[in-house]
Amino acid sequence: MNHMYNLAIIGAGPAGIATAVESYMLGIRDIVLLEKDVNHNSTIRKYYKENKRVDKDWKGQKVELDGRIYFVDGTKESTLDFFDEIIDNHSVELQTHSEVQSIVKKTDVHEQEYFEVSVGERVINARYVVVTIGRMGKPNKPEYKIPPSLKKKVGYTLEGCEGGESVLVVGGGDSAIEYAVDLAALNEVSICYRRETFRRANPTNQRNISNAIMHKELQAILGVDIHGVEDDAGRVKVLFNEKEPMSFDRVIYAIGGTTPSAFLASSGIKEEDGKPVHDENYETNISGLFVAGDITQESGGSIALGLNHGYAIACFIQSKV
Ligand SMILES: Cc1cc2nc3c(=O)[nH]c(=O)nc-3n(C[C@H](O)[C@H](O)[C@H](O)COP(=O)(O)OP(=O)(O)OC[C@H]3O[C@@H](n4cnc5c(N)ncnc54)[C@H](O)[C@@H]3O)c2cc1C
Repeated sequence: MNHMYNLAIIGAGPAGIATAVESYMLGIRDIVLLEKDVNHNSTIRKYYKENKRVDKDWKGQKVELDGRIYFVDGTKESTLDFFDEIIDNHSVELQTHSEVQSIVKKTDVHEQEYFEVSVGERVINARYVVVTIGRMGKPNKPEYKIPPSLKKKVGYTLEGCEGGESVLVVGGGDSAIEYAVDLAALNEVSICYRRETFRRANPTNQRNISNAIMHKELQAILGVDIHGVEDDAGRVKVLFNEKEPMSFDRVIYAIGGTTPSAFLASSGIKEEDGKPVHDENYETNISGLFVAGDITQESGGSIALGLNHGYAIACFIQSKV
């Protein structure tokens, strides 16, 4: 039989790293952290712009940290450095390029339960498993079809934005506002949101977007829905409800992520109302199998919330081993 880990964690974002580090600090050993990408924190690397301000109280939610990881406001770069440091200082076995496909519960010859975690052709065995794969693996996409010819002009991150373009950002949350305000320094930017105000965003972002609109650094198209996009000789023609179409060089959707339902189903984790079912210890319907971080939240969580989930799970597992 393969090596038996005490704990396997799927996804090396803030929640996964916190689960590993807090568990280690509580004396649990033999922990493996499996990450599908080339490095930890692929959501932060792909979706945060360079030098982005990272707020501990994201989306205006004040979170008191429960565990021993001391996380404070910073930037994208300082946050990644912080996670590098805590991984290194707590002997976390991080395996990158390790995309998990499924988790199956088994019983060994001593009637002890364990999990088989499938990573491509490999199988990793562990007594406990925590799924922290987030929601940004599949960003929310519009319901209408994007013509294939516009693939390079329509996206979900800032990839490809080099400046000097007319850009439409779709969405009204913190990420959309931060993208729009940042892009406005080098582009002609509009932001389209189906509601009339940006009240969902945190106070700093509300202030930043109001200032940018007031100083005509960008244009806000509020209370308007989009029902389609068309190729307009290489530009993106946006079809608004109750408003004349407009064409842009680029359109960026910043409308959150989706629950990885196929992954949950393939591992037997029940889902209700778009979220995996779990109890107060984040244990799912399968005992010994946990979920933490953004995956437990309907419309995205925060780094601090993920850290707290990791700590809670570490305490619970420690009480069992
Ligand atoms: C643009 C933007 C700005 C934000 N700004 C802030 C902010 O300022 N402050 C804040 O607190 N929060 C912010 N957030 C939210 C924050 O990034 C998330 O709440 C946080 O990253 C969630 O952590 P997580 O560990 O649950 O998931 P994630 O960070 O999404 O990490 C999941 C990890 O799992 C990996 N993975 C996925 N599938 C598999 C698989 N099958 N096998 C192995 N690995 C897998 C992914 O590659 C990824 O590394 C922002 C989000 C966005 C999109």
